[in-house]
Amino acid sequence: MLKNRQSLIIVITGPSGAGKTSLLKYLPSENFYFSVSHTTRPPRKDEIDGRDYYFVSKDKFLEMIKKDEFLEWVEIFGTYYGTAKSEIEKAFSQGKHLVLDIEVIGATRMKSYFGNSAVFIFVLPPSIEEIERRLRKRETEDDKKIRERIQRAREEIRFASWFDYVIINENLEKAKDELFSIIRAELCKPFRNPSLKNILNSLIYE
Ligand code: 5GP
Repeated sequence: MLKNRQSLIIVITGPSGAGKTSLLKYLPSENFYFSVSHTTRPPRKDEIDGRDYYFVSKDKFLEMIKKDEFLEWVEIFGTYYGTAKSEIEKAFSQGKHLVLDIEVIGATRMKSYFGNSAVFIFVLPPSIEEIERRLRKRETEDDKKIRERIQRAREEIRFASWFDYVIINENLEKAKDELFSIIRAELCKPFRNPSLKNILNSLIYE
């Protein structure tokens, strides 16, 4: 069911502050289903439960792990994040392209589940200074948390060349064009075109 699907599965990764969220806002929700992860982190001031995350207690999260309800999960800085299997089912039942905004370890795990169906994109910030500037602008983390996130960013960036595509988000418009180009190219892959067989047959035999 998961391999060679016609709809896209976009796994997008990049350090906090790389601008993934701003980039993903360009994808229309009529065609794209944005997987909502579960987390034990408290909501930021502009975040809404069920839209940005499902904000749950650690007990609830651990219970979900026990019940095997996650496709993947990670613990970062004592906070749990996970993709529930039910999110994937929702996207598929709506016939939309699925978008997963997850960190690098979760992304590598997805490779074995999704195979060719998924396209793996890494969003790089133009510099570490820019990440720091964006994190400070959010005003959601204290100095210690910002330092932790920057250290983690450096570790995540090591994995960038493992991904199918790397977008350097120096300029949001340019990054958006690159994202759209990747999606267009992926949608031209033969296995994603359900009518291709008929088209080829008619061109060859008629
Ligand atoms: P934040 O706390 O800034 O919202 O997210 C921190 C990191 O956790 C980001 O890199 C984000 O992509 C990642 N993340 C969010 N949800 C999930 C998830 O379900 N699984 C994994 N592996 N990472 C996630």
